[in-house]
Amino acid sequence: MQVRITVSFPYEAPVSQSLFERASAVTPGGVNSPVRAFRAVGGTPRFMVSGTGPYLTDADGREYVDLVCSWGPMILGHSHPEVIAAVQDAVSRGTSFGTPGAGEVELAEEIVARIEPVEQVRLVSSGTEATMSAIRLARGFTGRPKVVKFAGCYHGHVDALLAAAGSGVATFGLPDTPGVTGAQAGDTIVLPYNDLEAVRAAFAAHPGEIACVITEASPGNMGVVPPLPGFNQGLKDICSDNGALYISDEVMTGFRVSKSGWYGIDGVRPDLMTFGKVMGGGFPAAAFGGRADVMAHLAPAGPVYQAGTLSGNPIATAAGVAQLRLLDDAAYEKVDAVSAELRGLVTEALAKEGVAHRLQVAGNMFSVFFTGADVTNYDEAKAQESFRFTAFFHSMLAQGVYLPPSAFESWFVSTAHDTQAVERIAAALPAAARAAAEATE
Ligand code: PLP
Repeated sequence: MQVRITVSFPYEAPVSQSLFERASAVTPGGVNSPVRAFRAVGGTPRFMVSGTGPYLTDADGREYVDLVCSWGPMILGHSHPEVIAAVQDAVSRGTSFGTPGAGEVELAEEIVARIEPVEQVRLVSSGTEATMSAIRLARGFTGRPKVVKFAGCYHGHVDALLAAAGSGVATFGLPDTPGVTGAQAGDTIVLPYNDLEAVRAAFAAHPGEIACVITEASPGNMGVVPPLPGFNQGLKDICSDNGALYISDEVMTGFRVSKSGWYGIDGVRPDLMTFGKVMGGGFPAAAFGGRADVMAHLAPAGPVYQAGTLSGNPIATAAGVAQLRLLDDAAYEKVDAVSAELRGLVTEALAKEGVAHRLQVAGNMFSVFFTGADVTNYDEAKAQESFRFTAFFHSMLAQGVYLPPSAFESWFVSTAHDTQAVERIAAALPAAARAAAEATE
């Protein structure tokens, strides 16, 4: 995709540039996950070498206030001493056993204790695995083939769920990806987000065929687009009335927006839920869980197969347990307060420059849409003036603030974002807002 860079770089990043050239020779696009590339905004991705608290340091020795937080997981900031200590302790005892271990039980118990609808949980290594396994289980449990998903919701790169997905698929404006066959995508019904009538119509058109509806509990992958009041409850009711399962994907929101994720905010009870990111403390750990009668269909208890060599890895579970145990009410109050303060600062700066924008919020997750209208679905998200984000992004980067390199992603903060970090962001905002105001397509 061709992207026109609308600002010039006030500084070079020679070490990152050289690493990017080496990376591009051996790795497609030079990155191991498309959202890390700067394709949507132009320029050289920064190669980070360390992270401490709210800061990241790149290979050129520049320090940035981090508003990506590894796309959500680092809710306690980088290198939290207690998480690092738990990891070091676990590493000293070995890295993988291929047998059950105590850490898996502890992590599963933490999840079940926090999230009431989760009676049983299975640990996996990525959010993608969690959603893939959850829809397989839903199909196995109901004996039905079809899955309903929403345009702009991203559930990982599961073949059947890539249709009209958010995140990198939204960022790069990709059509449904090559490599996914008609058979793999043919049982996926993609509907507009926040549209219950469309869901009712789909169930009416496919009686007895829909296994599940999967939705981001509150979407963050087309930018932050929270469910309209009653939308999630409506989904749950339609599913219950039609013998389908309601799957709430909390990979992003889980343990981030509250102690019990988005469920702790809207209280709508899913049949199955998926988790990742925060629960791994920066390591590859994810999970899916829910009703015990549904989970009982999973191997070895039941016939639906699912497995993983590194599932419940002892280092990942140690990091996850340590992080979750530190996430008490006070921690969420802190993250919520930082998020509110930043939102105020961003709005103030953009309003001062007369930049039309909407700051959309889901708990402590938020994102800025460069548009004059509220965004309730993917089409509206795509209608924003993302060239203004490009200018805004580069100005912030040049001033040492690392934003997600896409107008279609949530911003994330942590308990480590202290007054000093917020002041650095505040100092960068006026020039970034001006750059957004002056940007042209
Ligand atoms: N589901 C949601 C809501 C996500 O935001 C993501 C990743 O961003 C995933 C699933 C996939 O998780 P992973 O990248 O760990 O495979």
